[in-house]
Amino acid sequence: MTTRTDCEALDTVDPLAEIRDRFALPDGEIYLDGNSLGALPKHVPERMRKVVEEQWGVDRIRSWNVHRWTDLPHRVGDRIGALVGAQPGSIIAADTTSINAFKAIDAARRLRPDRRVILTDTSNFPTDVYVMRGIADAAGLELRIVEPDSVLEAIDDSIAVVAVTEVDYRTGSRHDMAAITAACHEAGAIVVWDLAHSAGAFPVALADLGVDFAVGCGYKYLNGGPGAPAFIYVAPRHQIAFRNPITGWFGHAAPFDFSLEFVPAEGIARARVGTPHVLGLVALDAALDVFDGLDLDVVRAKSLAMTDLFMDLVEGWVDELDVATPREPERRGSQVSLRHEHAFPIVQALIARDVVGDFRTPDIARFGFAPLYLRHVDVWDAAVAVREVIDSGEWQEPKYAVRPRVT
Ligand SMILES: *Cc1c(COP(=O)(O)O)cnc(C)c1O
Repeated sequence: MTTRTDCEALDTVDPLAEIRDRFALPDGEIYLDGNSLGALPKHVPERMRKVVEEQWGVDRIRSWNVHRWTDLPHRVGDRIGALVGAQPGSIIAADTTSINAFKAIDAARRLRPDRRVILTDTSNFPTDVYVMRGIADAAGLELRIVEPDSVLEAIDDSIAVVAVTEVDYRTGSRHDMAAITAACHEAGAIVVWDLAHSAGAFPVALADLGVDFAVGCGYKYLNGGPGAPAFIYVAPRHQIAFRNPITGWFGHAAPFDFSLEFVPAEGIARARVGTPHVLGLVALDAALDVFDGLDLDVVRAKSLAMTDLFMDLVEGWVDELDVATPREPERRGSQVSLRHEHAFPIVQALIARDVVGDFRTPDIARFGFAPLYLRHVDVWDAAVAVREVIDSGEWQEPKYAVRPRVT
């Protein structure tokens, strides 16, 4: 059985140990919510301050050209591309994941005009499903929602688009991206992957797997800050046919010609919509510095070791909670989810002990293990806190039952 001393020893030889020092992490707190809002890299505020004071404050409108603000979606997009296995020129950082899902899925269904079905699964994040519902209703298509384990067998030549999220936000269960992508292509369908819980957590191979479209989040494992721009990937082979349903001026071939006729830009630029979120992009760009020179296989190995350890400890110590996350390494992301009828007050009692996870309705206590800044001792201490909160019954205190707006 592992001991806390073993965890300390693992931390001393952790190849990512010094990356932790690059993050602002309040003393005494164990932050297991990096899958929801990544921690702040310490150098980001200074970079933001400089841009605000020098570019916005002094150079003002000249900054669009002098500081190349208009290129930011592409520069930041290419940096994200390096983390998800995408070629330069195939990703922009822009908008929200919901908006990018709309653009990607609507463009995807237009590539298969003779087919009538959009396929997704019940584990998908609600916003993705809402967006698909909107597209299906507007275009007169059927939205077919199957169980996550049935996605592969549901792919046939009636399907226009398969749109799924690689890692289930609730259970942390991970789809087989290679198998589903291959099955889509075999059946002549287009695949759209949501990488919200993948990008920055483990290697993704968009180009190698031949993925058609993908979207993802900037504020989770990429640590871009609250409301950070999201991203969209359009495989180079689809860029000429890609039809962005939101035909805004920044997706125009020549926005500053102010022509009233829409002519799409070449390449990934046609996935753009409006004025870039400069400050958000600057924060995300700076945050991505922590990934420079990192080997994502090393990041993945540490993530698997931490999630394994947490599951082992909780399973060994607490009978009351069920592990909802798959034990097979290739079947999970970078989080562990525990099921309990009273998961909500249990999570609140843990937060009161400075072990910050979150609750997902109806019965999931969710713990994200961001490998860049967590230590093995944090895993140990978090598992001890879970055990103590359950054994003491302290979660039953009435104050832990009060639900805020954001959980
Ligand atoms: C977090 C998350 C989102 C968030 O979408 P926004 O539009 O950026 O708020 C979308 N999809 C999935 C799968 C997510 O986990």
